[in-house]
Amino acid sequence: MPRLVMKFGGTSVANVDRIRNVARHVAREVRAGYDVAVVVSAMSGKTNELVGWVRDANPLYDPAEYDTVVASGEQVTSGLLAIALQKDGIPARSWQGWQVPIHTSDQHGSARIAAIDGAAILARFEAAREVAVVSGFQGVHPETGRITTLGRGGSDTSAVALAAALGAERCDIYTDVDGVYTTDPRVVPRARRLDRVAFEEMLEMASLGAKVLQVRSVELAMVHRVPTYVRSSFDDPDHPKPGTLICDEEDIMENPVVTGIAFSRDEAQITLRRVADKPGVAAAIFGPLADANVNVDMIIQVVSDDAATTDITFTVPSADYERSRALLEENKDRIGAAVIQGATDVVKVSAIGVGMRSHAGVASRAFKALAEKGINIRAITTSEIKFSVLIDAAYTELAVRTLHSLYGLDDKA
Ligand code: ASP
Ligand code: MG
Repeated sequence: MPRLVMKFGGTSVANVDRIRNVARHVAREVRAGYDVAVVVSAMSGKTNELVGWVRDANPLYDPAEYDTVVASGEQVTSGLLAIALQKDGIPARSWQGWQVPIHTSDQHGSARIAAIDGAAILARFEAAREVAVVSGFQGVHPETGRITTLGRGGSDTSAVALAAALGAERCDIYTDVDGVYTTDPRVVPRARRLDRVAFEEMLEMASLGAKVLQVRSVELAMVHRVPTYVRSSFDDPDHPKPGTLICDEEDIMENPVVTGIAFSRDEAQITLRRVADKPGVAAAIFGPLADANVNVDMIIQVVSDDAATTDITFTVPSADYERSRALLEENKDRIGAAVIQGATDVVKVSAIGVGMRSHAGVASRAFKALAEKGINIRAITTSEIKFSVLIDAAYTELAVRTLHSLYGLDDKA
């Protein structure tokens, strides 16, 4: 029998009614002849509530116990879905991460999957065509035997990793939208659903702010070449729409120059003024930030005319802004910076498309279009298949809409 992994997010399992609806989606695939492993998230809002309880109990909590608590949301939904399937006459069994087992690193709160042993699940497929309902988001660290979690949104990663381990034909990620869009439809009502997106494009879109999939899940899908669909559990279970396929670039007939526009409000800018222009300064700035696990993104160094000092601007995630500034203040003398400035009301807008590889001047058209709207660009970065601009947050909508039209992404209908 061919195998299939189906993943259902929080809104798809929000209550017992929604879980019954999920059972109907699963039943359809079982009838179609698949051996099915289902990965479930916690009911929507549940993980936030659990995290809140942990913080309440002690803001300086033990991360291992955090995992014990927050992994429980998925235990509930996996059991409930198994019950709902059994009620419909479909053999089903729930599996917690440690039961599969899904082995992970011991980085509690953001563990990485090291290995999945699918043998026990495959044996149940073989023996009884029994559906495996696997708790997403969680695993176990083999040496300590403790429960781990994969970081927020980690059920996507559980699903893709399981699909790879079981040799599934594909991985279907069910959510509350019917696919991946050219940009956020709440910002651009004329955004279009994409039929196909290349792995690389999806990876960039997820990293640059699109929230449909956890970044790590896209990485895994790309590495293991797991065809992955994003589709809606709110479709009629008997007549679902296909959604968006994330696949190899070669499987996409026509690549537009730009496939999507992503944006992230989660950025902050730091500028160091009149930094000594001599070897070792960049290392003195970025070394301590790297040691503190701060992910520095856009970096601009200005060539000074006096050759004695220079200005350096870069961005960090907003969550790390205060911490980064404090670290730089501490190291100010070593860096030799005269002034440290910062801004948090900035947004990074990015255009992504594998077609950029073979087209020149893609970014320069954007600079012109943004200038015509009076939008000032604070920083720019480019790579092979994307470019990003940092602008004032007040212009987010205008900038996203402008680029969306510029590259012909608006829905014509
Ligand atoms: N329940 C977890 C979260 O809310 C994992 C997931 O839903 O993917 O982050
Ligand atoms: Mg999610």
